[in-house]
Amino acid sequence: MELQFLGAAGTVTGSCYVLSDDSKKVMIDCGFFQGSKELESLNSKAFATDPRSIDFLLLTHAHLDHCGRLPKLVKDGFSGPIYLTEPTKRILEITLVDAARVYREHNQENSLFNEDDVAKTLSLCQVVEYDSEFGPSDFRINYKNAGHILGSAFIQLDLSGHKVTFSADLGNSPQELIEPTDEPSSASTIILESTYGDRVHQVQDTDGELSKHIAAIAKDAGTLMIPSFSIERTQELLFRLDRIDKAGKLDHSVSVFMDSPMAQKVTDVFRDFPEYYNQRLHQAASVDDPFSFPSLKVTRGSKDSRNIATTTGPKIIIAGSGMMNGGRIVNHAKTYLPLSNTRLLFVGFQAEGTLGRQLLEGQRRVTIDGQPIEVNAQIFDLAGLSSHADQPKLVNWAKKTGAQNIILTHGEDYARKGLAEKLVEQTGSKNIQTPHYLDKIMLPL
Ligand SMILES: [Zn+2]
Repeated sequence: MELQFLGAAGTVTGSCYVLSDDSKKVMIDCGFFQGSKELESLNSKAFATDPRSIDFLLLTHAHLDHCGRLPKLVKDGFSGPIYLTEPTKRILEITLVDAARVYREHNQENSLFNEDDVAKTLSLCQVVEYDSEFGPSDFRINYKNAGHILGSAFIQLDLSGHKVTFSADLGNSPQELIEPTDEPSSASTIILESTYGDRVHQVQDTDGELSKHIAAIAKDAGTLMIPSFSIERTQELLFRLDRIDKAGKLDHSVSVFMDSPMAQKVTDVFRDFPEYYNQRLHQAASVDDPFSFPSLKVTRGSKDSRNIATTTGPKIIIAGSGMMNGGRIVNHAKTYLPLSNTRLLFVGFQAEGTLGRQLLEGQRRVTIDGQPIEVNAQIFDLAGLSSHADQPKLVNWAKKTGAQNIILTHGEDYARKGLAEKLVEQTGSKNIQTPHYLDKIMLPL
């Protein structure tokens, strides 16, 4: 079979792969490119393969960089089934409806799809369970828990005896909310993510770090701004803040604003799937709502969001988007970045070309919506909250598959290089490939 890379090949976004032979064509993920203008311009390009010729689609999880181009694929003619887990389906609906709304409100002339395309996309979804094989005899498919976000999967394929596994995004297990990543079965070829391929996450006392920042803003009536991803990360933050509150360490003079209607919707999906929680969350959830505490204020409309700036006293603002390349956090950034009693706390990967990356790299002057903004805020990174496996975890997962053919995707080139070197050392593989956009690789290797 031929494997073509329509994204996430040398970047962390745009995940989209096509496996094909004479008799069938299958797409795995269909995500948005996010980051620089140049990268995002790829979203509007015609697919390198005719969407009408794709038989079915396998969706690993509902992050936008894995599912964002789906409605465009459907608009361009794809009409086959989309296989996904039930939580993924629920989160997918929230994610895509929101993306269509953003297009309608802000970017109509460049809109890739509309609400009708989203509705058509959702009508093609077919729910699958973890660990239950399906598909034709020469193309057996098995979804395993990736431990990355609620409902996320890595996908094991048996192509007439040739075993190929797509890691998709692997979790930083054990995580606070969901079950850890499943053990992979043996495979001869793996397509492995490498977001943090060159890094080892530090062991951090995350609750302790959060408490330290909260104490600091309580002291000087400052603002703790947390750009957060709506899916998983925000729920984890709420869970931790709830725990900190229960431990009596959440100063009640600090208001906590959750300023993301989308994250609120996703939190409701979490509440609907306790069977996907890990044991600890299960226990916590049986006693009370693990995503809520007395000082939490959930804002709804954009007026409520703007009103946050008029409130006095110390506050925590949790708002999207996680890389600050859009969403309500951008307005808060204009207000609070110039203030020296602001702490900006990153809780996830910041891709090249995003405002988040510029700030994390220490730029003291940035441009937001064409407006120059002086940065006097202190900037921090809470890497312990990452939802991606680090180098040791990626290598460990790869070793468990026993695969000698390793294709590295979903990582910037420096990360892929670091991971490739480690994999050579640890697995003895002599066949590690790092394809680029639109490259094709023939399987079996
Ligand atoms: Zn992801």
